[in-house]
Amino acid sequence: MHLIRMELENFKSFGGEVTIPLEEGFTAITGPNGSGKSNTLDALEFVLGPKSTKSLRASNVTQLIFNGGERGRPAKHMTATLVFNNEPDETGRRRLRIDSDEVSFTRTVKLGRKGAPISAFRIGDKPSTATEMRRVLAEAGLRAGGYNIVKQGDVTSLATMTAYNRRKIIEDVAGVTAYDDEIRKSNTQRKHVEHSIETIGILEDDQKNRLKSLSKEREQALKFKQFQDDLDASRIILHQSRHRNRSEDVELLGEERTRYMGEIDEIGSQVTEGNKSLLSLDEEMVRVESEINEIMSGDAKQLLETIRQYEIEMETGGDRIADQEEAIDLANSEAE
Ligand code: ATP
Ligand code: MG
Repeated sequence: MHLIRMELENFKSFGGEVTIPLEEGFTAITGPNGSGKSNTLDALEFVLGPKSTKSLRASNVTQLIFNGGERGRPAKHMTATLVFNNEPDETGRRRLRIDSDEVSFTRTVKLGRKGAPISAFRIGDKPSTATEMRRVLAEAGLRAGGYNIVKQGDVTSLATMTAYNRRKIIEDVAGVTAYDDEIRKSNTQRKHVEHSIETIGILEDDQKNRLKSLSKEREQALKFKQFQDDLDASRIILHQSRHRNRSEDVELLGEERTRYMGEIDEIGSQVTEGNKSLLSLDEEMVRVESEINEIMSGDAKQLLETIRQYEIEMETGGDRIADQEEAIDLANSEAE
């Protein structure tokens, strides 16, 4: 894999645009202390995707934007691009899976309105994501922190480190670590999967229990529903029979009413009849009364007078008879 050039804009000490060409073979960058030699490697690592900005000697990405130096103006955005050669090898295979002879990877940071940094990624002209970019680069064996980047001080530490650590680095460079990493990753994944299976088992048990209690509840609900239906049906029957009884009552009462009405009619006609005879009796009485009056006012009066006269005479005659009889009695007793 050949890195053809680096294109930087406002990256750390590189104010404005800078293109660093890297010809085939050996390229040396020289300069006084603090002139930005290490910053070029930082740019390289920045695009490859470091684990943290600390390895780029900055506490956050904002510090990677050109700060204006001593006299310049601080920039608001920064861009770092790596351009790799991606021509197919003898077997016709490209190292990077992008179908192009040259592939550029660009990472930008710009400051938002409130000063918060916004990161963006591009492969060629196409917008990409950090993950996607890292994956494409890793497929070609390119990653930040890899030992194909030997930084200031790395050689010294390599010479002074323990044999064990050195072996680890050599294995890493040889690509063995990559396999170890794969194994480790797979193991971790296996553990995750086993854990998931366990969790799923527990969940399954839970669900089974839940299902059991739900089916019990369902049975009860069905029973309840049956009772409810029966109750409704019974209520309907009760209402119907009550209704039937009432209508029978109504019919009977109707008949009684008709009977009473007949009786009322009969009694009414009897009353009329009675009234009529009362009236005729009244009339008769009036007539008799007037007859009596008539009798009393005319000959009858005379007659009564005569009768009374006779009665008086009879009484007088009676008295005289009594007197005579007394005289007779006296004469008889005298005669004796
Ligand atoms: P040495 O030879 O000592 O290793 P060097 O050439 O590697 O030096 P670098 O470490 O690459 O130097 O650069 C350090 C310089 O970069 C410092 O002068 C620092 O002020 C400057 N610098 C770092 N960040 C920024 C920034 N955001 N804007 C402007 N300048 C910066
Ligand atoms: Mg340096």
